[in-house]
Amino acid sequence: EVIRAAVEALEKFGAGLSSVRFICGTQSIHKDLEEKIACFHQREDAILYASCFDANAGIFEALLTPEDAVLSDELNHASIIDGIRLCKANKYRYKHMDMQDLEAKLQDAQKHRLRLVATDGAFSMDGDIAPLREICQLAQKYDALVFIDECHATGFLGPNGRGTDELLGVMDKVTIINSTLGKALGGAAGGYTTGPKPLIDLLRQRSRPYLFSNSLPPAVVGCASKALDLLMDSNAIAQSMAAKTQRFRSKMMAAGFTISGKDHPICPVMLGDARLAAVMAEDMLNRGIYVIGFSYPVVPKGKARIRVQISAVHSDEDIDRCVEAFTEVGRKHGALP
Ligand code: PLP
Repeated sequence: EVIRAAVEALEKFGAGLSSVRFICGTQSIHKDLEEKIACFHQREDAILYASCFDANAGIFEALLTPEDAVLSDELNHASIIDGIRLCKANKYRYKHMDMQDLEAKLQDAQKHRLRLVATDGAFSMDGDIAPLREICQLAQKYDALVFIDECHATGFLGPNGRGTDELLGVMDKVTIINSTLGKALGGAAGGYTTGPKPLIDLLRQRSRPYLFSNSLPPAVVGCASKALDLLMDSNAIAQSMAAKTQRFRSKMMAAGFTISGKDHPICPVMLGDARLAAVMAEDMLNRGIYVIGFSYPVVPKGKARIRVQISAVHSDEDIDRCVEAFTEVGRKHGALP
């Protein structure tokens, strides 16, 4: 369905706009998609970008002045770090998911005009989920706004796939969401910001990657739009993702493996040794299972792993076969007794 929607959009609306949005790069489908994104996240408005990297590059500079402060988790995605580098606000980096440290930094940041806490909703390297309830409580206490990057959550976390804020029951407390159309929402490309209307209006006037980069090609818009329709029609996909994730994580742990993170379909199988991760991933591929070994410098030294990503198209049999293969390969290479 997603591919068909892309082909239809390509035929009806052309290959591309040869323009940025505000000159002659806006078609009805771009506006419809923005409306659909806002509706999906239950926010007032949304703005499209060529990527979420661009959305992250544009937002901090447009929103924050030298009188403001931004408080960022130390393990935030590179694009958040780069976006923050581009703004002139006072910068605080708090320890990964450490609420005591965030509180101390928020206290220090009281002297600034406005405070923005910025975090990945879900962190892709470890498959861990930001403690958004606690973050939102602290934000309320210290009068801060909350920004989350939902690239690793939109479309599959939470009972209806709305993301980390839905999973943790804080959809009305998170102010701004940036996310991608290039992962669960069709997987082609594109990104967006969704949040309060005045913020989106401001971004349309001031956000440099929005103002100075071509608008999304119609086929890409078609893919994302259909993916959102499917998710809004029924929560079956989101629910099946949660069940499959749980099946894989619990069976792997019962087999004796350590899986980092919690409740996330990114399941890092922790192995420690870089060579072990590489040879095991190769052996998994020989058994027809495509998983990738990660080691230093992508992850810290001594924390090599194989990252498994559960997908909505995996069947229960696929997942069981994967666990069996891991068990065989783990025994062969000494990762399991
Ligand atoms: N933010 C996070 C957390 C990501 O994982 C990624 C992509 O990997 C991005 C932003 C960038 O998204 P895009 O590929 O749409 O530029």
